[in-house]
Amino acid sequence: MTSLTKGANQLIECPICGVKCHLSETLVLAEEKEKSVLHLTCGQCETSTLVFISIGKFGIASLKMITDLNRQEAKKLFQSEAVSIDQVIEIHQFLKSFKGEVKDFIE
Ligand SMILES: [Zn+2]
Repeated sequence: MTSLTKGANQLIECPICGVKCHLSETLVLAEEKEKSVLHLTCGQCETSTLVFISIGKFGIASLKMITDLNRQEAKKLFQSEAVSIDQVIEIHQFLKSFKGEVKDFIE
């Protein structure tokens, strides 16, 4: 575990109930020099979240996405390298700026 992941300790809280979670409750899915992806299952409300942590000019930033993947599924997904951290962030940013309707995706 890198110092980046350790430094992000205080950032990890459940996006649903706000409970602070310990690193021991997370699973490190991917770790690079300046980026980490963690899987968190909240001990209180049992919501699973993917936590993306990156370090940049302005310090540590984190992005949380609620997921229905459990630990094993998330681990499998990342181990197969089907998804890179950059791809997930790209998708997230696309969705954030996307102004259309959900049906536009399906057509
Ligand atoms: Zn929670």
